[in-house]
Amino acid sequence: MNPIEKLAEYFLKFPGTGPRQAKRFVYFLLSNGQVFRKTLAVQILALDEAVSQCASCRRFFMRGRDASLLCDICTSPNTDQTTLLIVEKETDFDAIKKTNAYHGRYFILGGSLPILEPNPNEKISIAELVKEIEKQTSAGALKEIILAMGATREGENTAQYVAKTIEPLVKKHSLRISALGRGLSTGTELEYSDTDTFTNALKNRR
Ligand SMILES: [Zn+2]
Repeated sequence: MNPIEKLAEYFLKFPGTGPRQAKRFVYFLLSNGQVFRKTLAVQILALDEAVSQCASCRRFFMRGRDASLLCDICTSPNTDQTTLLIVEKETDFDAIKKTNAYHGRYFILGGSLPILEPNPNEKISIAELVKEIEKQTSAGALKEIILAMGATREGENTAQYVAKTIEPLVKKHSLRISALGRGLSTGTELEYSDTDTFTNALKNRR
């Protein structure tokens, strides 16, 4: 495989990218000059130096000097420890955080499950979620889990799978489990909902 094909293989792994788009990215890089390519490469490497994945909520965050394994939300005394809101991806987290309507804990699954997904446990961080719920219930604080998936078929499938997997824990610890109310119109990805829509969906959770 030559370097063009090899790099295209990597772009092919990006979300929503097909083989033609992947090749287009490589040619775009080639036509943009060496300075552009070098800067991009440096920026990619800089991620490893500055960003960590939170051991608790699985969110990517800017690592401080103390090289903490936990993010600022998980460690903040202002975070409401009684609720845990579960989202599919980082961009959903960003959208919710921006609304300033929710102040509890988060968990990022790192993906969603297509219908009939053969390896759900590899596609999303479900084992980590189970561990996290166990930890938070044994600390005695957690009372409610909110499923905040998009109003898409994949989102609904993911919510069902998560609910089924954590059901024994929910029962054992008498937790409340809720899903965002249907303020979100069908087919909407969470990351595209505006502040009012999300605030209503959160208020109308059931
Ligand atoms: Zn965290």
